Amino acid sequence: MKYTSPRGTRDILPEESFVWRQTVNKIINILENYNFSEIQTPIFESADLFQRAVGDTTDIVEKEMYIFKDKGERMMALRPEGTASVVRAYLQNYTHFQKKKVTKLFYNGPMFRYERPQTGRYRQFHQIGVEAIGSSSPFLDAETMVMGTQIFQELGLKDVNIAIHSVGCDVCRPVIKEKIKSYVESILPNLCEDCVSRYERNPLRILDCKNPNCQTFFAGMPDMNSALCKECNDHFLGVINHLEESEIKYNVDSHLVRGLDYYTKTVFEIRSDLLGAQNAICGGGRYDNLIAELGGRKTPAFGFAIGIDRLYMVLNELGLTKEIQKQTKFLIIGLGVKGQEIAFKTVLILRKRSISAEMFYKDNSINDGLKEALLLKVQYAVIIGEDEIDAQSYTVKNLKEKKQFTVNSLEELISIDN
Ligand SMILES: [Zn+2]
Ligand SMILES: [Zn+2]
Repeated sequence: MKYTSPRGTRDILPEESFVWRQTVNKIINILENYNFSEIQTPIFESADLFQRAVGDTTDIVEKEMYIFKDKGERMMALRPEGTASVVRAYLQNYTHFQKKKVTKLFYNGPMFRYERPQTGRYRQFHQIGVEAIGSSSPFLDAETMVMGTQIFQELGLKDVNIAIHSVGCDVCRPVIKEKIKSYVESILPNLCEDCVSRYERNPLRILDCKNPNCQTFFAGMPDMNSALCKECNDHFLGVINHLEESEIKYNVDSHLVRGLDYYTKTVFEIRSDLLGAQNAICGGGRYDNLIAELGGRKTPAFGFAIGIDRLYMVLNELGLTKEIQKQTKFLIIGLGVKGQEIAFKTVLILRKRSISAEMFYKDNSINDGLKEALLLKVQYAVIIGEDEIDAQSYTVKNLKEKKQFTVNSLEELISIDN
């Protein structure tokens, strides 16, 4: 093979694409019911935006960004996540958004991270994400997580669970960091290089380390909840209360920090056991400082993103994609020049009447036509041979029920099953 897709990327073939689009449409319907509206931002932005927003001690910025210099000598980056771009767009179009107290936006598109390729992880991957900007109410945290759960339930995933935690605010974060630091000090000689470098720069990030050896030393990490300030603690209890009111099952995971620096207070993940160790199909949380950090007024916000590649994997594994198939109704097989001409006119009329139809372009083999019909999984193969031309009729084969019958007009063909 002369050319293959770049390492860590893949082609999404028609069968998956079809399921994919149906799935995305279903998700978008739910988002719109919760009053989220779509925003589309560029696939690349100034690299600096992500360094600032995501944080320069995160895996994403330290190791995984696709950065390039454009012809104008500007450092650009393919977006590794969606929130920074949406916040940048929110601020850039502030006169458009500012009248509303709360702005709810969603995005849908490819993201890029230079990661080690592994099952369900790609260097170009697809996310649908939401950002609700303008309120610090714990109701907003809860309803957005309820929305996330509803999405997976409506897609047929019964086994998902929510892990939730609070990473604190400007006031209590330093206390949390100190707690982690003093614990990590005792295990530091056992940890990897990254952990050691993060110990000084951003101890909270140590919990993101994917090194299995490091992970074994994290088990004894102190519970961060006890270090939350009153405001963060009250907020966390509020969120949990509202989750209980919504009858959502959740568990508190005191090691959950998410791999981005902008989170404050609530962080959460929706997980599926089918994905193995890195089992999140949705993750997000509150980011009350990010908008101010990127130059706006201090504005609280909450968001999450769903990984569509991994979601598809889970749906597929559970057999939930089998029922979702594109189906063309008719394959019209015409014999000889005259048969082909009638076939051509027939498919055009069927399609104009919004009926899916395909023509078989070979004019000398009904058998080949029927084989094609089976491959295409059409409902009906329609044969126009010499006899049919003479009688101005169509022979119709119902491929599923293996029945054959004759219809005597185009109108009759159109009305099959209608
Ligand atoms: Zn706090
Ligand atoms: Zn480590």
